[in-house]
Amino acid sequence: MLEKVNKHFGDLHVLKDIDLTVDRGEVVVVIGPSGGGKSTLCRSINRLEPIDGGTILVDGTPLPAEGKALARLRADVGMVFQSFNLFAHKTILQNVTLGPIKVRKVPKAKAEEEAMALLDRVGIANQASKYPAQLSGGQQQRAAIARALAMHPKVMLFDEPTSALDPEMVKEVLDVMTGLAGEGMTMIVVTHEMGFARRAAQKVVFMADGQIVEVNTPDEFFTNAQTDRAKDFLSKIL
Ligand code: ADP
Ligand code: MG
Repeated sequence: MLEKVNKHFGDLHVLKDIDLTVDRGEVVVVIGPSGGGKSTLCRSINRLEPIDGGTILVDGTPLPAEGKALARLRADVGMVFQSFNLFAHKTILQNVTLGPIKVRKVPKAKAEEEAMALLDRVGIANQASKYPAQLSGGQQQRAAIARALAMHPKVMLFDEPTSALDPEMVKEVLDVMTGLAGEGMTMIVVTHEMGFARRAAQKVVFMADGQIVEVNTPDEFFTNAQTDRAKDFLSKIL
């Protein structure tokens, strides 16, 4: 999926020859110290950040640099951020239907029907007519997941989706994500939630200083990491 991807911010080499394959239906957890390039990696995958070199493929198709083809492929990649990023002046329902109506040209009634089904699935159908600020953080993040799913993405990217949440709301979001994983969604998840990694992921990617330092199974990674760098990191978070 990613081949020799490189990215600089000025002199800073943020992504160094990143090779990463994510198979269909696979859940990959990306973990690592702050500043290691995890968010940049996520943003590069749907070209929110341009890359300097390498290739990103979604379902075998290289991601084009710009234009209509990019918009189409970008729709295949759903993204959920730490900070929810819902449109504040639109209701939850409008947040979820906007993309399908604008980008996928789904008729409004059909888009609303699908959106209600998705909101039901993430457990907040009764919040559909409210505005984001009227919801708890956990509800907003579930709305953001529903919004991403409404585009029928082939892969979902989550960048620390629970780290801005109060502890009691973490589980409700992780439960939705675990459900998605169980249904076979292809997912790349930046998180330090080990319970989720163990439950849902096939692969843990440990990233530091712009490099993939270690790729391992969750069980092995958390009990028997292979690299000193990963062991050092784990000793600080465990
Ligand atoms: P992580 O998500 O693992 O914490 P990031 O991808 O956010 O790491 O950041 C990787 C590095 O790139 C950091 O050193 C950060 O300061 C830098 N960086 C991120 N975004 C930008 C930007 N827009 N401009 C300049 N430097 C950036
Ligand atoms: Mg980050």
